[in-house]
Amino acid sequence: MLPPGATIGILGGGQLARMLALAGARLGLKSHVFSPFPDDPAFDVCAARTQAEFDDEAALAAFAESVDVVTYEFENVPARTAQVLEAHRPVRPNPRALALTQDRLVEKEFVQSLGIATADFVAVDNAGALPRAVARLGRNSILKTRRLGYDGKGQTQLRDGGDLAVAFRTLGGAPCILESVVPFAKEASVVAARGLNGEFRAYDVCENLHEHHILARTLAPAEIAEETAIRAIDIARRIAEAAHYVGVIAVELFVVVDEGREALIVNEIAPRVHNSGHWTLDGALTSQFEQHMRAIAGWPLGSTRRHGRVEMRNLIGVEVNAWPELAREDGACVHLYGKKETRPGRKMGHVTRIL
Ligand code: AMP
Repeated sequence: MLPPGATIGILGGGQLARMLALAGARLGLKSHVFSPFPDDPAFDVCAARTQAEFDDEAALAAFAESVDVVTYEFENVPARTAQVLEAHRPVRPNPRALALTQDRLVEKEFVQSLGIATADFVAVDNAGALPRAVARLGRNSILKTRRLGYDGKGQTQLRDGGDLAVAFRTLGGAPCILESVVPFAKEASVVAARGLNGEFRAYDVCENLHEHHILARTLAPAEIAEETAIRAIDIARRIAEAAHYVGVIAVELFVVVDEGREALIVNEIAPRVHNSGHWTLDGALTSQFEQHMRAIAGWPLGSTRRHGRVEMRNLIGVEVNAWPELAREDGACVHLYGKKETRPGRKMGHVTRIL
């Protein structure tokens, strides 16, 4: 167990790193944030900072030497970066788990290898492979880049009669997968943690509502059958165990209703704290951020007990301008990320209410 006073190295300086550093501070853990961007919000709240590029190996080595364990707030950490860091200090979650989630094809094959359902998919390495993939899955499908997609970026839904070569080019000509559209009734996620000793704890399954491909609201608990919730948490546990995972993990799921019965399909795994877990800051005994710090520092995991029915709303772009009214609202827990510039689609803060 790393004692209070130990330093956690965090790669990336966005709001997730900021909330990790704040949660660590409450436990007496210091954070050293590494990010290329000088205005990143986590730099405001950390004990030490390194502003350097992720391929600056000298800066990475010096950073790793100055911390006790390294973690990250985003999944697109270059493999080489993780390798350089791992030569100096433990990296948690481990770089193999990271690599699994960086590539949609590898991720889906991994999930299926555990006997867990995903959407039907076909690899599309080049434009020539797309018509064959469409012949197998049909037009009711989504083309996604294998790497570097988020918030609906790097994906395009195929349209009847649309030009396939154009669809492929829209995504920059990168290797893709074609995925069947899942006729889901709900989107849900499991936010859970696995400790250094293999201990596993999950929060209640929550329900996610997206607008323009960006998470808008999360409700905890999800309105799903109890038996479905148990299966969802079991899916997250099996994934975390198979990946020898340490830290907080989020598993995004589609809930499909078939003849009155709820089935679960894994959409995506996030190897980090997740936006759909922000409600835990005010709505659970241990927040996902504290839980992640506990896990990677080798501490016992905290209680995931919920305080009530909880709603989290993201403040996206100019929605953040409502902060004075939110600050006045009795019972609204306001979180602002301190970002300098408001841009459309940018996550500026969130507000939690116990219903
Ligand atoms: P992703 O970046 O893969 O998480 O996708 C972002 C959002 O697009 C998801 O949260 C869904 O709302 C939607 N989506 C992605 N893949 C599918 C799919 N195969 N079927 C239906 N909706 C999807």
